Amino acid sequence: MGYIDEVNPDDLIEENFRLNDGQKNGLKKLGLKILQDLLFYLPSRYGDAAEVKHIAEVKTGERVVISGRVLKNETKKAYRKKILMAEVTIEDDTGRIKAVWFHQPYMAKKVAEGNLAKVSGIIAARKGKPYIVNGEIEEVKELELAHKSSLFGRDIITRRPIYGETKNLSSIWFRHAIKKIIRSGLHKKLIDPLPIETLTRYHLPSLKTALVWIHCPKRDDDALAARKRFAFEEVFFIQLERQRARLEYRSNPAFKVCPPVSNQGTETKRFLEKFDFKLTGAQERAIKAILKDLSSDKPMTRLLEGDVGSGKTAVAATVTSAVVSARPDSRAISKVFDQTSETALLSGPLQIAYMAPTEILAKQHFESFIKYFRNLNVSIALITGSGCLKFPSKTDPVRPTNISRSQLLKWVANGEIQIVIGTHALIQKSVKFKNLALVIIDEQHRFGVEQRFKLAHKTINSIVPHLLSMTATPIPRTLALTIYGDLDLTLLDEMPPGRKEVATEIVLPVGRGRIYESVRKKILEGRQVYVICPRIDEPDPTKELALNAKSVKEEAKRLKKDIFQDIEIGVVHGNLNPKNKDEVMKKFAEGKIKILVATSVIEVGVNVPNATVILIEGAERFGLAQLHQLRGRVLRSEHQAYCYVFTESKNENTLKRLLALKQAKNGFELAELDMMQRGIGELGGKRQWGISDLGMEAIKNIKMVEAARAEATEILSHDPKLENHLALLEKLSARNNPVHFE
Ligand code: ADP
Ligand code: MG
Repeated sequence: MGYIDEVNPDDLIEENFRLNDGQKNGLKKLGLKILQDLLFYLPSRYGDAAEVKHIAEVKTGERVVISGRVLKNETKKAYRKKILMAEVTIEDDTGRIKAVWFHQPYMAKKVAEGNLAKVSGIIAARKGKPYIVNGEIEEVKELELAHKSSLFGRDIITRRPIYGETKNLSSIWFRHAIKKIIRSGLHKKLIDPLPIETLTRYHLPSLKTALVWIHCPKRDDDALAARKRFAFEEVFFIQLERQRARLEYRSNPAFKVCPPVSNQGTETKRFLEKFDFKLTGAQERAIKAILKDLSSDKPMTRLLEGDVGSGKTAVAATVTSAVVSARPDSRAISKVFDQTSETALLSGPLQIAYMAPTEILAKQHFESFIKYFRNLNVSIALITGSGCLKFPSKTDPVRPTNISRSQLLKWVANGEIQIVIGTHALIQKSVKFKNLALVIIDEQHRFGVEQRFKLAHKTINSIVPHLLSMTATPIPRTLALTIYGDLDLTLLDEMPPGRKEVATEIVLPVGRGRIYESVRKKILEGRQVYVICPRIDEPDPTKELALNAKSVKEEAKRLKKDIFQDIEIGVVHGNLNPKNKDEVMKKFAEGKIKILVATSVIEVGVNVPNATVILIEGAERFGLAQLHQLRGRVLRSEHQAYCYVFTESKNENTLKRLLALKQAKNGFELAELDMMQRGIGELGGKRQWGISDLGMEAIKNIKMVEAARAEATEILSHDPKLENHLALLEKLSARNNPVHFE
């Protein structure tokens, strides 16, 4: 590799380093192509801050470094011979321990038998025997003594960057390669996307300094400052991106939805009589906020966030009623349109699209809406992958009828159908609306940001719909501020009255028999039961500490064979085809299946009021917020609900953590707890937020998130199109695609 004059950030890595095929593949796998990609491949941590331990002293769950001699190294096949693994046995003066790697057989040969090695990783246990899973191993010249590493020696270890490795690309390779690039001075050619004022204001190092500090730190503080800068940068750009999208969206006109003034409120009030309950204060506040948004000719972009069972559907239905009852003659349209010929297009009633992530949910909403809107002379349609329905039908006044997709599309396009409920099928290109005024997205976390706006742009004139997203995912405030930078937030932080709390019990292995007894009693009384398992079938050994976790398939078999022989048990999980899944869910909803064994991701919003018991297996594997959400599934009935949280963990902290479930008032509290105790990765579906591990560090820090948000707002307020911030604009478009959703 040459010097600064000869290389450029965009030059190919391949052309500047001598690489073998394995290394080339490794780079490809990591998505590293050009020299600057390597510079931005940031270390995940530094050295092994953990102390070297005697093998005899290790404890399950702790991160350790072992220093010893390799007695044996071999590759094996695990789990019905499906998974290749490496197994290395290491010995020190106090004992022996095995280190295993799943899916990485090559790890076996990193250190030859008889040589000295340093192994680091987390201690897991199987049948009471500790071992290290998917750790790191490195050959060493001499043994490091437990507890005796010199201060100097430790310092050096601590500052050695560790990178995400692949086969053929070790941290050592990255260290050398990146050092070479930095030595060439290439990093000085990069343009710092952050404005200098921002850097000064928050005492952040410049890009070129930060790159040196993060890859080759001389002091711990430098590494920390550099990480802070990149974390800030990431959150800042997410903010900038979302806020800009919001500004852009809101620069379009929307329908002003105002019922006739003399009737103000009464239509809505009459509608409320359709519910057999009184709204909670939180629901009333939410409806008020949304109706206020709707009365503006700027499109609403609002997120309604509330625990499972907090009654989001009723809010959605009420605001829908306000939109359908806004009569053509009474709805004011932005002045812009009053003066143009487009006004002519805008005849006929306003329309609503309501999107749900699954067919079952969409159907459920369709049925509730029929109940709420019948006798109101409103047409409602359902569109899913398996067909279309319309209500009311010409022939049957009480039930919906099947219609063809093309018929539905026609009636949606000419405005005849006012409310369209559906799955992803709603965002297909062929679905065109006439006067789409409001889009409601249920369980919005199941859709990507792109999908949110895709549906929002479904209009043939240039008016965009108001946007109401709904979610039950409790996340910490900092994360909400970041990923929902484009949305106004309304919380439904109050549960409907009269709901009993779910009686929650943490169950240790000895309690299992007793719980099954009482579950059987509940089933005999007519109730139904969920059993949630951490995985579908094969254990996933790549996940540390996961080896004993139960699987849906095996647990269902076991329950049928050993415990509930006489009871109908059903199974659903993500690998079933949708038809089978629907069938099982239908049988469960009808009460034919009494026990439903499922993974945690299945049908979050499904409403089966008769299911009042939920058993969660391997609870230590779930975040608290996730457990809370699972528990919410049994909250839909007048009957007392029960949640049994099974754990085999003996770890005191784990048990303490689980006990928080008994005290917590709502999911947001638990999400905060998760974040502080276990890190943001435990919030479930970390990848769906599209934030790196480093960015997630920032999320823990409310001050940093607020600063990044304020900075983005400030810049956009002066320069909404970023015409005077070209470096920002360039960076934004560069990062435009990498958000991947599960
Ligand atoms: P989620 O917020 O999870 O979508 P739903 O809208 O499905 O919750 O409501 C859960 C249940 O609570 C439904 O059966 C609904 O009819 C009922 N419900 C909603 N609001 C109230 C209320 N204010 N009082 C009593 N029950 C309510
Ligand atoms: Mg819901």
